Amino acid sequence: MTAASVELRGVSVSFGTLEVLRGVDLKVERGRTTCVIGPSGSGKSTLLRVVNRLQEPDSGDLLLDGESVVRADPDALRQRIGMVFQHFNLFPHRTVLDNITLPLRSVKRLTKPQAEEIARTRLAEVGLADKAPYRPSALSGGQQQRVAIARALAMDPEVMLFDEATSALDPELVKGVLELMAGLAERGLTLLVVTHEMGFARQVADRVAFMDHGRIVEEGTPAAVFDDPASPRLQKFLSQVL
Ligand code: ADP
Ligand code: MG
Repeated sequence: MTAASVELRGVSVSFGTLEVLRGVDLKVERGRTTCVIGPSGSGKSTLLRVVNRLQEPDSGDLLLDGESVVRADPDALRQRIGMVFQHFNLFPHRTVLDNITLPLRSVKRLTKPQAEEIARTRLAEVGLADKAPYRPSALSGGQQQRVAIARALAMDPEVMLFDEATSALDPELVKGVLELMAGLAERGLTLLVVTHEMGFARQVADRVAFMDHGRIVEEGTPAAVFDDPASPRLQKFLSQVL
């Protein structure tokens, strides 16, 4: 797998009079993991949506491996940047296998056998080779999220975005998904992860960014952010979640 760096420069987004992102600068180096933490409503999901071209910024730039992609074709960009959502977003009436092969066929224009070979390889990687013929509803939440990850990986992305990928899961299912994400970090994919899992952020992230009211208030190593927070806002946030 080939990883790319991803960078936001001065990105601002408003909805009416609500400024949701206020000049956000953030860079994830190639093959590194940044976790974004912060209170609800601080702009974390909007930030990820800008990176995946689901949200047009009012101003600022988005760079992939140093090249501006802020005007790139969204479909082309989404082949290079995979995204995993809190609620999986699988097609409910399709089999697990179809969920992975359909985007490969429609976007990458692969033949059915080519798509199925990739899908089965990716399913095996996430430990779900035997689930190929089932509908998503026959799987646990944790298994469904692993299918969603397999689907994103099947596109062979250079960057993966995770938006609270474990927040909708029963507690006993969280660990398997986090381990899978940690494995991707270890294999050298570039990851930008919005999470409430502070243990994951501390152990897996190279950098942690704390967002509040549309700004990155603090960014640094996990040790710096968790053990030596500079701003009162981060200190208060950590006292509430740790
Ligand atoms: P977070 O993921 O940190 O909880 P979000 O990025 O989802 O924050 O949202 C930040 C703020 O922007 C919230 O106040 C939210 O209500 C608002 N917001 C997000 N998307 C939209 C939208 N499409 N239209 C209007 N307001 C939005
Ligand atoms: Mg969110």
